[in-house]
Amino acid sequence: MTWPPLRDELRGLAPYGAPQLDVPVQLNVNENPYGPSPECVADIAASVAEAASTLNRYPDREFSELRTALAAYLSKDTPHGIAPEQVWAANGSNEVMLQLLQAYAGPGRTALSFAPTYSMYPEYARDTNTSWVAGRREDDFSLDLDHARALVEEHRPAVVLLPSPNNPTGTALPHDAIAGLCEAAGEGLVVVDEAYGEFRREGVPSALELLPDHRNLVVTRTMSKAFALAGARLGYLAADPALCDGIRVVRLPYHLSAVTQAVALAALRHEKELLGRVDDLRAERDATYAWLIEQGHRVAESDANFVLFGVFRDRHAVWQGLLDRGVIVREVGPEGWLRVSIGTPEEMKSFKLGLSQVLEEAS
Ligand code: PMP
Repeated sequence: MTWPPLRDELRGLAPYGAPQLDVPVQLNVNENPYGPSPECVADIAASVAEAASTLNRYPDREFSELRTALAAYLSKDTPHGIAPEQVWAANGSNEVMLQLLQAYAGPGRTALSFAPTYSMYPEYARDTNTSWVAGRREDDFSLDLDHARALVEEHRPAVVLLPSPNNPTGTALPHDAIAGLCEAAGEGLVVVDEAYGEFRREGVPSALELLPDHRNLVVTRTMSKAFALAGARLGYLAADPALCDGIRVVRLPYHLSAVTQAVALAALRHEKELLGRVDDLRAERDATYAWLIEQGHRVAESDANFVLFGVFRDRHAVWQGLLDRGVIVREVGPEGWLRVSIGTPEEMKSFKLGLSQVLEEAS
């Protein structure tokens, strides 16, 4: 037996994660480029100081105050409102979705998504001994509802994972696709992963609106992207209260530290400021999309804070060329495509200049 004695299916596998390189222009993990203001930093620091004086005690296991604050925030995106009992949170939406699979998938059950899709999903399935099935998206990365419904009916998945907007393509799903899949899934859960939901274009609704019609619908969100709080690790979901109760069976006790709860609550008090840059990022995204089209690339329409573009014969060479010029993007998605996160106008200038130089040199 080789050392360490890992589970057979984990032997030789590398841990997930984009390279964390010290590069001046970081456009590879869809972070928000704008940090918090000094006032917001001071409020977060004061809240952490207050929490620090009670760290001899375990935190509120039910994170009631945070659930209430998250419910109030989500309620702005649906006329039906969201109650605190409908909210669950964990250390990033990755942990929220892993907990969903721990509670509702597992051995003998299947999780399903449509490729290209978020690359962590098959890892949640692997780690919970859940079977994994990936259907396909169309050439423009939209979902063919007939194909999607047929696949769901064939495999009867316990969990369908639908990122909307999708990572890495930026594609948002229309309501009729989500509603159709909720119906096709029967008792299976349909998880609409809205990690990038706040960046959606005008007129694109949130799946939160559909919650009253489908008790098997779960909508996940994160504070890592629009909220500019990736370092704090706070993800959450809205769903039927009974589904939240089911997750409580598998969560580790006190999984959300007092510090995390204090930071998230302070950030929610500064919602206006932290989300204030979303409109700027959307405008920069649309400008980046238009520029890439102008340059003759294929570009996926995006409702997120990133743009997928290509198609390059040797995408790794383009990625490396950009890195050599101090700009890091992500090699992800279908062969030949690259994904660029939306940064500040200065960062996008460096990206455009770098890309033009790399392609000119190669021609
Ligand atoms: N869902 C999608 C589609 C993502 O792209 C990401 C992060 N890249 C996540 C979920 C997880 O984010 P976090 O754990 O930071 O909430």
